Amino acid sequence: MTAKPRSLIVGNWKMNGLRRSLAEIAQIAQGYDAKLRRDCELIVCPPVTLVYLAAKDAVGSRIAIGAQDCHIEASGAFTGEISAEMLADCGATTVIVGHSERRSYNAETDGDVKSKALAALRAGLMPIICVGETNSDREGGHTIAVIKRQLAGSVPGSADSEPIVVAYEPVWAIGTGLTPTHADIVEVHRFIHRELNALLGSHASPLRRVLYGGSVKPSNAKDILALEYVDGALIGGASLKAEDFLAIARAAPAPR
Ligand code: PEP
Repeated sequence: MTAKPRSLIVGNWKMNGLRRSLAEIAQIAQGYDAKLRRDCELIVCPPVTLVYLAAKDAVGSRIAIGAQDCHIEASGAFTGEISAEMLADCGATTVIVGHSERRSYNAETDGDVKSKALAALRAGLMPIICVGETNSDREGGHTIAVIKRQLAGSVPGSADSEPIVVAYEPVWAIGTGLTPTHADIVEVHRFIHRELNALLGSHASPLRRVLYGGSVKPSNAKDILALEYVDGALIGGASLKAEDFLAIARAAPAPR
């Protein structure tokens, strides 16, 4: 049995949320009581339009605010883009990079994802690097090979690459209500931890975590968060309602 550190629970709101949705973040902050603080760390990643206001509101609440993407450059002639430095300036502490929706709708490559993760680290943000196989990868028995390739291409392999979080999000499990078997989740997470040790050095680091993402909800969170090698979860749909997000957080095991 490996140690279980405090779970990291991250909400990805995707392109959802107007200013009135800040009330959900306020409710999450209010519900983040002493027991929850002992068992888990909470980060909410609203759309970029809400990052500044959410971070301002979250001051003193101990929940953190993140973003869902960043540009690789710090500034320049890139109309419509947002840099990691701008996110940090707005109070974000974290940024998700390489989500499967960006890989697929914006044709982001592993190389792009690595550059974004490096940009995040440069700006003092913690990157959450998403990897995950498609259904045809899975059916073809290629899950581990796909994850290995994505990690090798997307994770900055330098001494400066921490804190680093990898989110294992099977593409076929996102927003579908489907999840891999517990044995499959453990196998892939164990593999990711080993690959990170190979890429970043095998010293144990509390700054290196692997999250599971894909249809996590209050009803399945307890079993998934208890699995060996699972350091937390990245939550899409169920993070939009404070009640559901807090219920998932409450399902986190006590650290040991
Ligand atoms: C996600 O998009 O990162 C995600 C995990 O979505 P959901 O929880 O809705 O499957």
